[in-house]
Amino acid sequence: MRRRSVNARTLTTKRAAAREFARHGSGYILVAYLAAALVLRRRRGRPARADATVVAAVAAIQPFFEWTLHRYVLHAPPTSIAGRPFDPGAAHRGHHRAPDDVAGALLGARYAAADGLVVAGLAAALGRLVAGPAGTITGAAAGQGALLAYEWTHLLAHTGYRPRTRWFRRLRAAHLRHHFRDERANFGVTSRLGDRILGTAA
Ligand SMILES: [Zn+2]
Ligand SMILES: [Zn+2]
Repeated sequence: MRRRSVNARTLTTKRAAAREFARHGSGYILVAYLAAALVLRRRRGRPARADATVVAAVAAIQPFFEWTLHRYVLHAPPTSIAGRPFDPGAAHRGHHRAPDDVAGALLGARYAAADGLVVAGLAAALGRLVAGPAGTITGAAAGQGALLAYEWTHLLAHTGYRPRTRWFRRLRAAHLRHHFRDERANFGVTSRLGDRILGTAA
Protein backbone atom coordinates (compact mmCIF):
# COMPACT_ATOMS: atom_id res chain seq x y z
CA MET A 1 0.00 0.00 0.00
CA ARG A 2 1.04 3.58 -0.64
CA ARG A 3 2.94 5.17 2.17
CA ARG A 4 1.25 8.25 3.59
CA SER A 5 2.67 10.50 6.21
CA VAL A 6 0.21 10.87 9.09
CA ASN A 7 1.14 12.28 12.48
CA ALA A 8 0.07 9.67 15.04
CA ARG A 9 -0.55 12.34 17.69
CA THR A 10 -3.44 13.71 15.65
CA LEU A 11 -5.29 10.41 16.26
CA THR A 12 -6.97 11.04 19.60
CA THR A 13 -9.49 8.18 19.76
CA LYS A 14 -9.16 4.41 19.40
CA ARG A 15 -11.59 4.63 16.50
CA ALA A 16 -9.38 7.13 14.65
CA ALA A 17 -6.34 4.95 15.37
CA ALA A 18 -8.17 1.85 14.10
CA ARG A 19 -9.26 3.68 10.96
CA GLU A 20 -5.68 4.71 10.28
CA PHE A 21 -4.45 1.19 11.10
CA ALA A 22 -6.85 -0.11 8.43
CA ARG A 23 -5.18 2.12 5.82
CA HIS A 24 -1.93 0.16 6.16
CA GLY A 25 -1.17 -3.37 5.10
CA SER A 26 0.31 -5.00 8.20
CA GLY A 27 -2.97 -5.56 10.05
CA TYR A 28 -4.56 -7.31 7.07
CA ILE A 29 -1.59 -9.60 6.60
CA LEU A 30 -1.41 -10.57 10.28
CA VAL A 31 -5.18 -11.10 10.49
CA ALA A 32 -5.00 -13.29 7.36
CA TYR A 33 -2.19 -15.37 8.89
CA LEU A 34 -4.13 -15.67 12.14
CA ALA A 35 -7.33 -16.68 10.31
CA ALA A 36 -5.47 -19.28 8.25
CA ALA A 37 -3.94 -20.80 11.38
CA LEU A 38 -7.33 -20.86 13.15
CA VAL A 39 -8.97 -22.57 10.14
CA LEU A 40 -6.22 -25.19 10.08
CA ARG A 41 -6.59 -25.71 13.81
CA ARG A 42 -10.39 -26.02 13.56
CA ARG A 43 -10.02 -28.79 10.98
CA ARG A 44 -8.18 -30.86 13.55
CA GLY A 45 -11.07 -30.94 15.96
CA ARG A 46 -12.30 -29.16 19.04
CA PRO A 47 -10.08 -27.02 21.26
CA ALA A 48 -8.43 -29.03 24.00
CA ARG A 49 -6.57 -28.29 27.20
CA ALA A 50 -3.30 -28.51 25.27
CA ASP A 51 -4.34 -25.45 23.25
CA ALA A 52 -4.70 -23.39 26.42
CA THR A 53 -1.25 -24.57 27.54
CA VAL A 54 0.26 -23.48 24.22
CA VAL A 55 -1.43 -20.07 24.30
CA ALA A 56 -0.21 -19.57 27.87
CA ALA A 57 3.35 -20.53 26.85
CA VAL A 58 3.36 -18.09 23.93
CA ALA A 59 1.92 -15.32 26.14
CA ALA A 60 4.55 -16.04 28.79
CA ILE A 61 7.45 -15.85 26.36
CA GLN A 62 6.25 -12.80 24.41
CA PRO A 63 7.58 -10.11 26.79
CA PHE A 64 11.05 -11.65 26.67
CA PHE A 65 10.98 -12.28 22.92
CA GLU A 66 9.94 -8.69 22.35
CA TRP A 67 12.61 -7.41 24.73
CA THR A 68 15.38 -9.49 23.12
CA LEU A 69 14.43 -8.53 19.58
CA HIS A 70 14.12 -4.82 20.40
CA ARG A 71 17.26 -4.70 22.54
CA TYR A 72 19.61 -6.79 20.41
CA VAL A 73 18.26 -6.73 16.84
CA LEU A 74 16.39 -3.47 16.33
CA HIS A 75 19.03 -1.48 18.23
CA ALA A 76 21.99 -3.34 16.75
CA PRO A 77 24.53 -1.08 15.04
CA PRO A 78 24.99 -1.51 11.28
CA THR A 79 27.58 -4.15 10.47
CA SER A 80 28.60 -6.40 7.60
CA ILE A 81 28.50 -10.13 7.05
CA ALA A 82 30.94 -11.64 4.56
CA GLY A 83 31.63 -8.15 3.20
CA ARG A 84 27.96 -7.31 2.71
CA PRO A 85 26.28 -4.59 4.75
CA PHE A 86 23.89 -5.99 7.34
CA ASP A 87 21.66 -3.53 9.14
CA PRO A 88 18.65 -5.18 10.79
CA GLY A 89 17.93 -2.03 12.81
CA ALA A 90 17.63 0.39 9.85
CA ALA A 91 13.83 0.58 9.84
CA HIS A 92 13.71 0.92 13.63
CA ARG A 93 16.24 3.77 13.54
CA GLY A 94 13.91 5.45 11.06
CA HIS A 95 11.09 5.02 13.59
CA HIS A 96 13.26 6.61 16.29
CA ARG A 97 14.03 9.55 13.99
CA ALA A 98 10.32 10.14 13.33
CA PRO A 99 8.36 8.50 16.16
CA ASP A 100 5.13 10.33 15.30
CA ASP A 101 4.95 8.98 11.76
CA VAL A 102 2.26 6.29 11.64
CA ALA A 103 3.79 4.37 8.74
CA GLY A 104 7.13 4.18 10.57
CA ALA A 105 5.46 3.03 13.80
CA LEU A 106 3.87 0.10 11.96
CA LEU A 107 5.72 -2.89 10.59
CA GLY A 108 4.56 -2.23 7.03
CA ALA A 109 3.24 -4.91 4.69
CA ARG A 110 6.58 -6.43 3.71
CA TYR A 111 7.92 -6.69 7.23
CA ALA A 112 4.56 -7.96 8.51
CA ALA A 113 4.53 -10.70 5.87
CA ALA A 114 8.09 -11.78 6.67
CA ASP A 115 7.93 -11.29 10.46
CA GLY A 116 4.58 -13.09 10.58
CA LEU A 117 6.17 -16.17 9.03
CA VAL A 118 9.19 -16.07 11.34
CA VAL A 119 6.99 -15.64 14.42
CA ALA A 120 4.66 -18.40 13.20
CA GLY A 121 7.64 -20.74 12.85
CA LEU A 122 9.07 -19.94 16.27
CA ALA A 123 5.70 -20.06 18.05
CA ALA A 124 4.81 -23.31 16.26
CA ALA A 125 8.10 -24.80 17.53
CA LEU A 126 7.25 -23.63 21.05
CA GLY A 127 3.75 -25.11 20.71
CA ARG A 128 5.22 -28.42 19.67
CA LEU A 129 7.66 -28.32 22.54
CA VAL A 130 5.00 -27.84 25.21
CA ALA A 131 2.13 -29.89 23.71
CA GLY A 132 3.58 -32.18 21.04
CA PRO A 133 2.63 -32.12 17.34
CA ALA A 134 -0.96 -31.12 18.22
CA GLY A 135 0.36 -27.84 19.62
CA THR A 136 2.11 -26.74 16.42
CA ILE A 137 -0.74 -24.94 14.67
CA THR A 138 -2.08 -23.49 17.91
CA GLY A 139 1.39 -22.11 18.56
CA ALA A 140 1.48 -20.48 15.12
CA ALA A 141 -1.96 -18.95 15.73
CA ALA A 142 -1.00 -17.65 19.17
CA GLY A 143 2.18 -16.16 17.69
CA GLN A 144 0.16 -14.24 15.09
CA GLY A 145 -2.20 -13.04 17.79
CA ALA A 146 0.79 -11.82 19.80
CA LEU A 147 2.30 -10.02 16.79
CA LEU A 148 -1.03 -8.40 15.99
CA ALA A 149 -1.31 -7.26 19.61
CA TYR A 150 2.20 -5.82 19.34
CA GLU A 151 1.40 -3.95 16.12
CA TRP A 152 -1.79 -2.39 17.50
CA THR A 153 -0.38 -1.58 20.94
CA HIS A 154 2.69 0.05 19.42
CA LEU A 155 0.60 2.23 17.13
CA LEU A 156 -1.75 3.20 19.96
CA ALA A 157 1.18 4.11 22.21
CA HIS A 158 2.28 6.69 19.62
CA THR A 159 -1.16 8.22 19.06
CA GLY A 160 -2.72 11.09 20.97
CA TYR A 161 -5.24 8.69 22.55
CA ARG A 162 -5.45 9.27 26.28
CA PRO A 163 -5.25 5.89 28.04
CA ARG A 164 -8.21 5.01 30.23
CA THR A 165 -6.45 2.39 32.31
CA ARG A 166 -3.46 2.75 34.57
CA TRP A 167 -1.94 -0.32 32.90
CA PHE A 168 -1.94 1.27 29.43
CA ARG A 169 -0.98 4.71 30.75
CA ARG A 170 2.17 3.21 32.25
CA LEU A 171 2.87 1.03 29.23
CA ARG A 172 2.56 4.00 26.88
CA ALA A 173 4.64 6.28 29.11
CA ALA A 174 7.38 3.64 29.24
CA HIS A 175 7.51 3.34 25.45
CA LEU A 176 7.53 7.11 24.95
CA ARG A 177 10.32 7.36 27.50
CA HIS A 178 12.26 4.82 25.41
CA HIS A 179 11.82 7.15 22.43
CA PHE A 180 12.30 10.56 23.95
CA ARG A 181 14.52 10.10 27.00
CA ASP A 182 16.42 6.84 27.14
CA GLU A 183 16.85 4.42 24.26
CA ARG A 184 18.59 1.96 26.58
CA ALA A 185 15.50 1.44 28.72
CA ASN A 186 11.95 0.12 28.26
CA PHE A 187 12.26 -2.31 25.36
CA GLY A 188 8.87 -3.92 26.01
CA VAL A 189 5.90 -2.71 23.96
CA THR A 190 2.99 -4.94 24.97
CA SER A 191 4.32 -5.60 28.45
CA ARG A 192 6.82 -4.15 30.93
CA LEU A 193 7.62 -7.56 32.39
CA GLY A 194 10.76 -8.10 30.31
CA ASP A 195 12.20 -4.75 31.39
CA ARG A 196 11.30 -5.34 35.04
CA ILE A 197 12.92 -8.76 35.16
CA LEU A 198 15.90 -7.98 32.95
CA GLY A 199 16.70 -4.69 34.69
CA THR A 200 15.92 -2.11 31.99
CA ALA A 201 12.72 -0.64 33.39
CA ALA A 202 12.79 3.15 33.78
ZN1 LIG B 1 7.80 3.22 19.06
ZN1 LIG C 1 13.70 1.31 20.04
